Amino acid sequence: MVGTSMEKRIFKQYEPTICYNKPPSAQVDPAEYDNKRLETLSGEIVETLIVPKRTARTWTMQAGDLCRITVCEGSQVGDMNFWNLDNIKEHFYSGKTRQLHSTHLKVYDRLWSNFPHLRPMATLVHDTLADYGIDEHGGALHDVVGTRCDDYTYKLITGKDRVGSCHSSLTKAIVQERGMKEEDVHDVWNIFMCTGFTRDTQQYFCKPSPARKGDYLEFIAEINLLIALSACPQGDVSVVVGEEVPDEICHPLKVEIFRKSNNN
Ligand SMILES: [Zn+2]
Repeated sequence: MVGTSMEKRIFKQYEPTICYNKPPSAQVDPAEYDNKRLETLSGEIVETLIVPKRTARTWTMQAGDLCRITVCEGSQVGDMNFWNLDNIKEHFYSGKTRQLHSTHLKVYDRLWSNFPHLRPMATLVHDTLADYGIDEHGGALHDVVGTRCDDYTYKLITGKDRVGSCHSSLTKAIVQERGMKEEDVHDVWNIFMCTGFTRDTQQYFCKPSPARKGDYLEFIAEINLLIALSACPQGDVSVVVGEEVPDEICHPLKVEIFRKSNNN
C-alpha cells in the first residue's frame, strides 16, 4: 500500500518517448529553404542597424524577408522577441516552440506563435555555429528555455535595485520605438547563448558564449513581423547573474534585412 512502508519506493522504469509527433508544418524542406535563402540574399539589403551594447532595438520585416544577426565586434548573446506586425497580441511562444522542436533551435527549426494562432513566425535557415551541436554537459546554443535576464530576479538574488537587463532594455525599446508596454515583453529566443540543464540537479546552466566576431545566424520571416533584440548586458555570459559584469565583455550586435528583388 502506498505510504505505509519505510522502504524507498521503487518505480517501474520506462524508456523515454518523444512527447510530440512533429506536425508536417514543423518540418520544412531543406532544399526549398536553402533556395529561398539564396534568392533573398541575392536581393537587396533594405535595412541595417546596430544594436549598441547593453541596449535593445526594434525593426520590422515583411513575410519572406531574411534577417541576419551578426556578432560584429566580440562575443555577445542576444535576447529576441517577435510579434505579428499587424496584431501584437500574436507573439512568440517559446514553450510550444520547445515542445515542437527542442530546447535549442537548429537550422530549419521554426519559431511558433501563441494561442489561438499557433503558426510559424520565422524559420532559422543558417547558423555559423551549427557545428557546436550538443556538448559533453548537454549544453547547446540558441535556447528557447531561459526567460530573459531581468532586474526583478536580480533584486531577489542580490537585494539590490538595478536597471540594466534584457527585460528592461526590451521594455524601453518597445515603449519608445513602438508605443507598446512592459507587459508586451515575453519569453525570448536566446541567440548565441550556450545553456543546458545539469544532469544531477536539472538546473539551468550557462557557459561563456562560443560565438566570435563574424559569427551570424539567419532566419526568414513567415509573416509580417515586429522584432526586438537586446544585446544582453551579461555580454558573453562569462559572469554569473548577480555579479558585476565588466564592460569589456559586452558588445553590439548587427542586424541586416535582405529582401528578394521583384525581378528575380
Ligand atoms: Zn540578458
